[in-house]
Amino acid sequence: MVAVFLRDMERRRVGILDATGMVGQRFIHLLNNHPWFEVTWLAASDRSAGKTYAEACKWKLDTPLPAHIAAMTVMPNVPEGTPSAELPKIIFAALDADIARELEPKFAAAGCAVISNSSAFRMAADVPLVVPEVNADHLALIEGQSWRKESSANGKPGGYIVTNPNCSAIGLVLALKPLEERFGIESLFVTTMQAISGAGYPGVASWDILGNVVPFIKNEEEKLQEEVGKLLGRLSGNGNGGAHVAMLDAKVSAHCNRVPVEDGHMECVSIKLRKKATREEILAAWADFAPLRGQRLPSAPDQPVEFDVNPDRPQPRLDRMRGAGMASTVGRLRECNLLDWKFVVLSHNTIRGAAGAAVLNAEVLARLGKLGGSKERYKAAEPVAVLA
Ligand code: NAP
Repeated sequence: MVAVFLRDMERRRVGILDATGMVGQRFIHLLNNHPWFEVTWLAASDRSAGKTYAEACKWKLDTPLPAHIAAMTVMPNVPEGTPSAELPKIIFAALDADIARELEPKFAAAGCAVISNSSAFRMAADVPLVVPEVNADHLALIEGQSWRKESSANGKPGGYIVTNPNCSAIGLVLALKPLEERFGIESLFVTTMQAISGAGYPGVASWDILGNVVPFIKNEEEKLQEEVGKLLGRLSGNGNGGAHVAMLDAKVSAHCNRVPVEDGHMECVSIKLRKKATREEILAAWADFAPLRGQRLPSAPDQPVEFDVNPDRPQPRLDRMRGAGMASTVGRLRECNLLDWKFVVLSHNTIRGAAGAAVLNAEVLARLGKLGGSKERYKAAEPVAVLA
């Protein structure tokens, strides 16, 4: 099903930090013709600043680079380089973690909503780590952030940082959330097979990955284990500095591997539940899981978790674009001799696992009135038709 949206007459101006990388390119692809947001500002490293985007970027997607983006001048990755009236108040960030640690707070302090893909602040106590179908309530944490309070005190709309998880954690938690809600999760064992686009560009050397599997991705296992705990954790308090996330009380063990696949992270999962569940009950939990249904968010998939009955699915090449790349596909549900159940989960790492996740976070923030302007303006973007 494809929803056709009436374009908001006044789309909100947005910017992209490190717009030239793999995730930055996905942002451009997903935001082209977005009904609520319009890319008006692009930034990257000093190597790219001052060039046109077409000159600065090695475009790697199989969709054309939009002509108006190709002609835009790339700005430096700092808020000071742009007159404040031209700096968009919504910034999608695709920065490397070390750079994000320094730059994202500068944009938040300048009053921007920073919607980040980086790991730099994911585990900070006052920064929401969010997948909207899983824990949208954690967005309340932004009200306690110093940048939000400081810029509000100056009478300006307050800036803040919101993060989306590691590319493997997103697909996984979509499959886990309905199980946690109905049965509780006691422990989890996950082995990933991660695509090379997850390593950015140029990423892993062809000599290392062709005809090969690399059983190590720096810091990836640690990130996956801790982020699952925060994403499925419980929010207590109500923002304004009082909110806090208690981590999920479950043991998580991860093995992370890089495999010679272009796009799409696959994960083999074994799980122990707190309450016994039958196969039918698990399938029903996935089928019924549609927490955003009816909210008319442009990037939200109708069915965030799709189960495939075929014994040899999901597969990256065949299933990564389900739900326009925003759905998680599960398959091969069967009993586990070690824990209770095992299954396979697949998701598109640069769409659901990165840029698409951030765009969906922004859509939820817009609907909550946290991107400036009124909540009402986004109601103008109701679908005008739904095509079968
Ligand atoms: P990438 O393809 O390697 O992109 C690198 C970007 O960093 C380019 O825009 C580059 O700009 C810029 N850059 C390089 N050196 C810089 C410097 N010294 N100062 C400022 N900018 C610099 O990486 P990516 O895959 O897009 O990943 C971006 C972020 O998203 C990372 O934090 C990554 O962990 C995270 N993430 C990635 C994925 C994924 O599937 N790829 C998924 C989730 C999260 P120039 O072109 O100007 O050099």
